Amino acid sequence: MRVAVLGAGLAGTCTALELAERGVSVDLYDENAIPVSRAGRNNEGKVHLGLVYANDRSLRTARSMILGALHFTAALGRWIDVDRLEDAISDPYDYAIHPRTMVPADDLAGYYRSCRELFADAVAATRLSYLGRDATLRVERTRAASFPETFRTSECALDPRRLADALGAAVLANARIAFVGETRVVDATERADGTIDVGFRAGDARDCARYDHVVNALWGGRLEIDAKLGLVPERPWIYRYKTAGWITGPVPRGRVPSMTIALGPFGDVVNYGDGGVYFSWYPTGLVGRSAELRAPDWDRDLPPRRVADAVRRSFACLADLCPALAALAPAPSAIEPIGGTIFAWGETDIDEPGSHLHTRYEVGVHSAGRYHSLNPGKYTLAPYLALEAADRVQAQRRRATA
Ligand SMILES: Cc1cc2nc3c(=O)[nH]c(=O)nc-3n(C[C@H](O)[C@H](O)[C@H](O)COP(=O)(O)OP(=O)(O)OC[C@H]3O[C@@H](n4cnc5c(N)ncnc54)[C@H](O)[C@@H]3O)c2cc1C
Repeated sequence: MRVAVLGAGLAGTCTALELAERGVSVDLYDENAIPVSRAGRNNEGKVHLGLVYANDRSLRTARSMILGALHFTAALGRWIDVDRLEDAISDPYDYAIHPRTMVPADDLAGYYRSCRELFADAVAATRLSYLGRDATLRVERTRAASFPETFRTSECALDPRRLADALGAAVLANARIAFVGETRVVDATERADGTIDVGFRAGDARDCARYDHVVNALWGGRLEIDAKLGLVPERPWIYRYKTAGWITGPVPRGRVPSMTIALGPFGDVVNYGDGGVYFSWYPTGLVGRSAELRAPDWDRDLPPRRVADAVRRSFACLADLCPALAALAPAPSAIEPIGGTIFAWGETDIDEPGSHLHTRYEVGVHSAGRYHSLNPGKYTLAPYLALEAADRVQAQRRRATA
């Protein structure tokens, strides 16, 4: 049986590794030269417990984040040595409530209580712990100097760059995975017998290969290839390009608090200790929006100076709110600008309380025959949903050989 996984981001590498773990040989395609080089690498790394999704009163987003978060390191442990990532876990987040919060602090306190209950139920059902550590979700209301209303939480991030390096090495070392880099997927066609032809381009050469199953994990390029098989969503979507800065480490733990400024289009600071400090400020950091079928190639086409300017302005806005961040006073050369594409269902941006972007539960695998389109939705959910993608392939494989 031949299986192709399209896209070697976090979702694609995890899927390929899981299929290999189950004895399946995989061709893993990516237009970049190395695995996990885009959004899966260039993100904040927060393993969400639902706390930023207070505008989704149905709690469905919180529920799915908690499930993904509890499975996060348990799933990764199937493919890499997660104990070696222990020091890549950030200081826990404070939720600092901005004066213009979309949800008042008292209402947030009620919402966080619901998250704690969901978390407790999910721990009981799965018998898993959060990042291999916490079996309870801590959320304590407190007062901090610069933010009169703050919630101290046990939510953390895991350095996505360290994770990307570990997964990339695992993929390249795996004898069952053929990494087909610098190869752009341009087409997919279902044949009468259910097999799928994948068309691709490497340099000037175009070619095609036939597979028994295909998993599309292309993220910014996913809908374009789905559309080749006639799978076009009937609801609106938005691609956004979000920039952020990484102050190269080391920064002593505790010197700068990890925090999310809640709740609305604000920002985050994450202290990774020796791994440095990540920061993002949404109003200045968001530099691209598109509702095209394929996300623009912002990684390649945005002028580096535009990205660096956005990141410099983001630092200035956050430094006004976080004196400890300002006190780091990093030289411009110590700030690495990063950016990545975010896909979400919805039409309006997060400054609208009713925006669909405040939900992230309509994610996962959509299968049509032996073609499986994987929308991981978040870094938090990718390892867990990769298991689901592998289950889909394996279930059909079992059916075919029964
Ligand atoms: C700045 C930022 C901060 C974020 N913070 C968080 C966070 O704290 N927590 C969280 O849970 N989520 C966060 N996210 C979201 C998270 O990063 C994404 O949901 C997730 O990484 C996307 O899945 P992926 O890793 O598979 O995507 P990608 O890494 O983008 O993988 C897709 C791959 O497909 C390849 N590709 C695309 N089209 C083609 C084609 N036609 N042919 C060949 N290859 C192609 C790309 O090169 C890429 O390698 C953040 C995102 C950004 C940008």
